[in-house]
Amino acid sequence: MLSLVDVHKRYPGVVALDGVSLEVETGEFVAIVGPSGSGKSTLLHLAGTLDRPTSGRVRIAGYDIAGLADRHLAALRARTIGFVFQQFHLAAGVAAVDNVADGLLYLGVPLRERRRQARGALERVGLGHRLTHRPHELSGGERQRVAIARATVGSPPLLLADEPTGNLDSAAGAGILQLLRDLNGAGATVLVVTHDRDLASQLSRQVVMRDGRVVDDTRNDRGGRGPAVAAGRGGDGV
Ligand code: ADP
Ligand code: MG
Repeated sequence: MLSLVDVHKRYPGVVALDGVSLEVETGEFVAIVGPSGSGKSTLLHLAGTLDRPTSGRVRIAGYDIAGLADRHLAALRARTIGFVFQQFHLAAGVAAVDNVADGLLYLGVPLRERRRQARGALERVGLGHRLTHRPHELSGGERQRVAIARATVGSPPLLLADEPTGNLDSAAGAGILQLLRDLNGAGATVLVVTHDRDLASQLSRQVVMRDGRVVDDTRNDRGGRGPAVAAGRGGDGV
């Protein structure tokens, strides 16, 4: 699903990623941990095609992103990737159902159908009773559920979450983790950046970053569905 080979990302005066190689199979649930400034968000942005590496190779769902023009990259992103951020990034004053429907804008889905699918996505995250609520009328946990519904309304196979529980109390955070697990169980490959060691230790794979490098990559037999090989995937050449 995702392959990074010797990826570097440099900003003026800063090496954000310093030679990262990482392979993620379809169906995995991966925690990315490490101190602030270690390159976790940069890694997630590159994995999500929001940015291109300075050097090295990034492949997503079989596509080498270096070979794709920006509009093809945008199309790949719209079809393949869902993003969830710590700050939710919902449109203020806009009903939950329309915030979620916006997740289908770039797939060219007509408005009625966008709304229909958005209702379904909100029901799946347990918010079928909050369709017309606006962000300020929802709790933090509910807002993050709306953001997850928006990220997943088009059923992208790859879900990327950057500290999705960072602004939530532990009960709401546990609910969000369970929701990510359910999505993983339904087939999504999930990468989650987290400061929460408890959360990370519950997942089947932990990637530890420091100073722009992967310094540890551990699998255990808890959480996640594990590599898709075990689930009988046919193989897509990634
Ligand atoms: P983390 O998410 O682990 O806290 P980041 O990936 O956000 O780390 O940042 C890694 C390093 O790259 C930091 O030193 C950060 O200041 C720097 N950095 C990230 N994004 C930019 C940017 N757009 N411009 C300049 N420096 C950046
Ligand atoms: Mg970050």
